[in-house]
Amino acid sequence: MLDNVNISGRSWHHLAAKETIELLDSDQVRGLHPVECNNRRNRFGVNAISTGKVRSPLRRFLLQFHQPLIYILIISGCITAVLREWVDSGVIFGVVLVNAVIGYIQESKAVNALAALAKTLTIEAMVVRRGEKRTIDAVDLVPGDIVLLQSGDKVPADLRLLRAHQLQIDESVLTGESLPVQKIAENLPTETDLADRLNMAYATTLVTHGRATGIVVATGAGTEVGRISALISSAEELATPLTRKIDHFSKILLYAILALAGVTIVIGMLRGQSLFAMFMAAVALAVGAIPEGLPAAVTITLAIGVGRMARRNAIIRKLPAVETLGSTTVICSDKTGTLTENRMTVTDIYTSAKPFRVTGSGSAPADGHIELEGRQIRGDENSVLAECLMAGVLCNDSQLLAGKDSLQIQGDPTEAALLLAALKGGLNPEELAGRTSRLDAIPFESQHQYMATLHRLSQDESSTVIYLKGAAETILEKCANQLEDNGLQPLATESVVREIDRLTADGKRVLAFARKKVPDSKKEMKHQDVASHLTFIGLQAMIDPPRQEAVAAVASCRQAGILVKMITGDHPATAAAIARQVGLVPDEVGPADALTGRQLEALDNGEFIEAAIETAVFARVSPEQKLRLVEALQARGHVVAMTGDGVNDAPALKKADIGVAMGLAGTEVAKEAADMVLTDDNFSTIEAAVEEGRGVFDNLTKFIVWTLPTNLGEGLVILVAILLGITLPILPVQILWINMTTAGFLGLMLAFEPKEPGIMQRHPRNPSTPILTGRLTGRILLVGLLLLIGAFGLFETELIYGANAETARTVAVNAFVVIELCYLFNCRSLSKSVFALGFFTNLWVFIGVAAMLLLQILYTYLPVMNTLFKSSPIGAASWTRIGAAGLLAFLIVELEKWVNRKRDALGKSDHGI
Ligand code: ATP
Repeated sequence: MLDNVNISGRSWHHLAAKETIELLDSDQVRGLHPVECNNRRNRFGVNAISTGKVRSPLRRFLLQFHQPLIYILIISGCITAVLREWVDSGVIFGVVLVNAVIGYIQESKAVNALAALAKTLTIEAMVVRRGEKRTIDAVDLVPGDIVLLQSGDKVPADLRLLRAHQLQIDESVLTGESLPVQKIAENLPTETDLADRLNMAYATTLVTHGRATGIVVATGAGTEVGRISALISSAEELATPLTRKIDHFSKILLYAILALAGVTIVIGMLRGQSLFAMFMAAVALAVGAIPEGLPAAVTITLAIGVGRMARRNAIIRKLPAVETLGSTTVICSDKTGTLTENRMTVTDIYTSAKPFRVTGSGSAPADGHIELEGRQIRGDENSVLAECLMAGVLCNDSQLLAGKDSLQIQGDPTEAALLLAALKGGLNPEELAGRTSRLDAIPFESQHQYMATLHRLSQDESSTVIYLKGAAETILEKCANQLEDNGLQPLATESVVREIDRLTADGKRVLAFARKKVPDSKKEMKHQDVASHLTFIGLQAMIDPPRQEAVAAVASCRQAGILVKMITGDHPATAAAIARQVGLVPDEVGPADALTGRQLEALDNGEFIEAAIETAVFARVSPEQKLRLVEALQARGHVVAMTGDGVNDAPALKKADIGVAMGLAGTEVAKEAADMVLTDDNFSTIEAAVEEGRGVFDNLTKFIVWTLPTNLGEGLVILVAILLGITLPILPVQILWINMTTAGFLGLMLAFEPKEPGIMQRHPRNPSTPILTGRLTGRILLVGLLLLIGAFGLFETELIYGANAETARTVAVNAFVVIELCYLFNCRSLSKSVFALGFFTNLWVFIGVAAMLLLQILYTYLPVMNTLFKSSPIGAASWTRIGAAGLLAFLIVELEKWVNRKRDALGKSDHGI
């Protein structure tokens, strides 16, 4: 039937739900058949949008010229052209062009790498197909698919809603409106505007509350967002705090260079030099002082960092995070799934004052059973136990699917554990759920800490009941009495609490169960329906083993001067026990040392900040309090990484310096708000990302410390020559040659530098300290001076030995390159000796050095190079002097590092990195 219907571009809001389903030839209960899905996929294509990029490739290429320092080069090229220095002018323009091409390629690579990583974070959708609920990749959706939405989801395609339960959707990506929109399922008048079609849910918008069922009416390019995709930027922002600082630095440098060039011309003219010669000198000064390779090197280093982090399961969504990670001072982590494995197994059940034990730890029910005082017991032998297991089964949204060797969990592990416990007690969850009908549900949300479901248990009268499960204290508060073997009894709060304390002290997660009988007329429920007068059924406690890797990762963070805090929705005693097990707090720390959300609420602002700094374990914390904790820590200058998975965590994730979302258990809303997504939800991945972040920052600093002396040295050479009124030892084109070749073949190799040993034994970098400490600035000046002396000295020596200007200049250029080459080895570590680091640990450096030497041989001996760059062959004696100059410079810098290390050891000086 669908074959005859043209669905593209038509509207659906005015049709009744039934009509829509018929038109799309689907079935609300059974959904589509997989074979039909394949047919439809062939006809309508996959559900993916090829996001048009805002910037066309041409525009991106042209933007490469839009940099202050490049303007100077272009002006220099024009001046030399006017002066009819065709070769110089050609080379300058050649360099500008090569620079733009390299910049363009690197930028495209970085953008593509980020986009490719973003794609690895595929969106999933819960659909009904052939009568079964299943989670599929959203790209496989086709028109007619029945999709289930719940809080935290990203709408996977354009849907006409068939049923909506308190559904709210954040449509800001489409409309810019930041308040969520309340959605309905009823049909609307035909003339309703797109923005007011409340019975539609549009692809890429975010479900912030409630649940719904909808039918897919458009996929991929046919969706509203697909149609306007050209307006949506897929080009990731490549600017980071550091690149902004470099831009700022470039602007200052621009004015400094212009001023110096002006001064050069004036001084030279006063000394009687020709205007032509002085213009050429000014051009040389300008091109020498510009660090052309810097922006490209920064982008490449960051992109390499992104790749390294991805290999360690941390997907960077926003580039600045790579840099900020290195300066993280506090990591606030969830407990469940991050510090623990999220592998829940029920071990204890407590009903009618009896402590039952549940054996077996695997995910096969045959692995275990329920026992009381050593005797195996079936669920149906004890009515309260059976009721407790049944509450666990019915108040549950998860499923256990038959896998190869064991059962596979679909949904929340906490809930799946309850199903397995019921199986171990001999109950059949599927059959139980099939026998009853669920009328309504209040889904679990961490701020309410419970879930409730409304059931009609059988056709009999007065068989309508609400089951509740949730955090023990929350449920107990609502209970008026309790179910015992001999019927309803007053609630024995004290003994229940004692039991909770016993179970949580072992780090177990305790869920309480309750029920409330309601009139048969009840078809819906609200929070106030379950606020009081409940009957307590019992407790189920489950273990969730701590992750072994987390223990080492927490210890490593400690050593690195990073505070680790656990912020969980779980019970304080459970939280404290797990915190002890992963080494987050000392063994003597107990539940009393964990601060609860309630205790936090009672604090004033100052006390709150103090508590945020001092406390390591926060329990029963609401998402709003997570946000306050981030703000409190930031108020004290901390750089905060905060994990989160729920919809309500989004504000805290956005506020944190590094918002970290869980790739497996996290909602789409949380991922959207995060800077980084962990594909394995593992705490140790955060630690790994911090380590990589530190490595990236080191490498960026190393490149900057390596590159700036070159520009300084070149500027000085020109300035001194003019001040002394002597011939330029290096010509503008030669300076360009040095800058372009060395940045790519030498400096860039520092981007591949492995992380230094002991990188996680340093204290975090203070983000407000400048990249270049006093010590590093001193080193840049020292090396700039060494380059000046080396190049000038050897140039003059050659002249003394009777060489012509061309030969002497070739020696000066080679001296410059060789000193930079030797200095590259110094820069492999900013403080350690390169020998302590391992001389051969970065093979790229050797490849770069070999390529650079080859280029210098071509530069010196190839006739065409001699014509282009006015170079000339030189002899072995000159090479020996050049080599000696390089070696000497290397030794001097190593000596300077050694002196600084000694001063550090004596505690006399500020620490560089
Ligand atoms: P975190 O990852 O922050 O450590 P958590 O899983 O420990 O989170 P929440 O998910 O906020 O914390 O859960 C808080 C409490 O709510 C748990 O201690 C548990 O008692 C209860 N709870 C957890 N999951 C469910 C659920 N599916 N249904 C009912 N109650 C639940």
